[in-house]
Amino acid sequence: MGFLLIFMNDAKITKISLAERKATFKEVSCGFDEDNALREAKRCLQCKTAPCLKGCPAGIDVKEFIRLIAGKDHAGAIAKIKESNSLPAVCGRVCPQEEQCQLACVLNKKGCPIKIGYLERFAADWELTAGIKYKTENKNNPSSLIPALPAGRHHPSSIKIAIIGAGPAGLTCAADLAKAGFDVHLFEALHKPGGVLIYGIPEFRLPKIIIQNESRYIQNLGVNLYTDYVIGRTKTIDDLRKEGFRAFFIGVGAGSPKFLNIPGENANNVYSANEFLTRVNLMKAYKFPQYDTPVKIGKKVAIFGAGNVAFDCARCSLRLGVEDVRIIYRRTRTEMPARAEEIENAEQEGISFDLLTSPREILADENKNVTGVRCIRNELGEPDSSGRRSPVPVAGSEFIRELDTVVIAIGTNANPLLISTIPGLKLNKKGYIEINENLQSSIPDIFSGGDIVNGSATVISAIQQARAAAGAIKKYLSGK
Ligand code: FAD
Ligand code: SF4
Ligand code: SF4
Repeated sequence: MGFLLIFMNDAKITKISLAERKATFKEVSCGFDEDNALREAKRCLQCKTAPCLKGCPAGIDVKEFIRLIAGKDHAGAIAKIKESNSLPAVCGRVCPQEEQCQLACVLNKKGCPIKIGYLERFAADWELTAGIKYKTENKNNPSSLIPALPAGRHHPSSIKIAIIGAGPAGLTCAADLAKAGFDVHLFEALHKPGGVLIYGIPEFRLPKIIIQNESRYIQNLGVNLYTDYVIGRTKTIDDLRKEGFRAFFIGVGAGSPKFLNIPGENANNVYSANEFLTRVNLMKAYKFPQYDTPVKIGKKVAIFGAGNVAFDCARCSLRLGVEDVRIIYRRTRTEMPARAEEIENAEQEGISFDLLTSPREILADENKNVTGVRCIRNELGEPDSSGRRSPVPVAGSEFIRELDTVVIAIGTNANPLLISTIPGLKLNKKGYIEINENLQSSIPDIFSGGDIVNGSATVISAIQQARAAAGAIKKYLSGK
């Protein structure tokens, strides 16, 4: 098994070999080992002003946890991180660090910011390994993996709070309120907690064991989790109110796929990114027939879009054995919204790109199976509302790309299932929940955060809002 070594200043990060990456769903990046984590942590200047602190939306004391790693106090480091973030192994892997904490690091000016995300991941993974070792040494004690409860935690009060949706927003809000001693009940529609982390982001970027472990930590804080429980169907918010729930946090994400509304989108072998990734990740289609759910995929696959979702679809297709995988994107590489590290990984793995290209029509044969896509080339015009230069079609530049499978990954919308069952809940023009500066909706006992408020955003923005909402719920319940 060959390993690729990536050198970042002195500290090294290992990745599994390209051959293994193409043939398996194993995690690509192995992160820091202890030697390299120590080397990286010791590079931190422990700046007096520590601008990195302001760069973390979750409010992690970055400077202090790095100091603890440098002193080899890994248990202290993970405890420090968990004061502010209940999902450190997740964030250490998928946070857009280069635009957050690492952007703010003073060493970024010299082009070599401290790899804060990788250090966070190191501390979180260290806990997982140490926990397993501890469990092995304490075989007769089934609760040996249960992490210590945070200092000062008191017994759950009789005040019941319902959290709806167990994605990063719901998990975080539940954890913060459980730590504060409330009786927290977390309702999840799917059979596993994690939201997009479990059904969307593939194993090779975020192994499921990581999410299981972090969800278990949150349950061990005293959160009652109910899976296969669809609020709006199994029970409504009003039913829960009648059962004595005093406050609600809605973190149901934005899971309805968007389509381009071009001719041919109904052809066979056209998937939404949601369906494709759920089949592959949650239902483990890549292990079919060992698992029940198949995924039908051909030899030439195109993904429309260039965000994290699109890159995940492309890299999954490659691992399912597709020979020609391409991203079709209307702007250039510079405007791609995906994380820089994942774009680089995709390039290394051999994904092709049709840049400055928009699909106009999906073509199909007499059996309605996809045969290709008619595209047009663009050039960049004036910036649009997102600040990125808009694509302008070039007359006469149409061409046909032959394909047999299409995955549409151009974003998502709010799912109306729950929100349509809450009379009086104010939504914005795009159908997302409207909240005030306290994360409170138009209904005083209902708070909200994450993608159902922001549209498709990031894990860290969901965590930031969920933490703020937990604080606001505490104030609301104490009558302040
Ligand atoms: P979600 O994660 O969507 O969780 C919502 C949960 O609510 C789900 O589990 C859902 O089943 C549940 N639910 C819905 N309706 C109900 C109901 N009625 N009753 C009970 N439960 C319900 N962000 C990054 O920062 N970095 C990345 O690398 C990254 N990659 C991504 C890759 C993919 C493929 C996708 C789809 C997104 C990615 N994102 C990434 C975005 C990020 O995952 C989301 O912004 C984040 O998960 C939003 O969290 P959330 O808790 O608001 O919603
Ligand atoms: Fe940086 Fe994200 Fe970790 Fe905060 S949670 S320290 S922004 S990687
Ligand atoms: Fe360390 Fe960078 Fe933070 Fe300074 S800004 S304390 S170097 S992580």
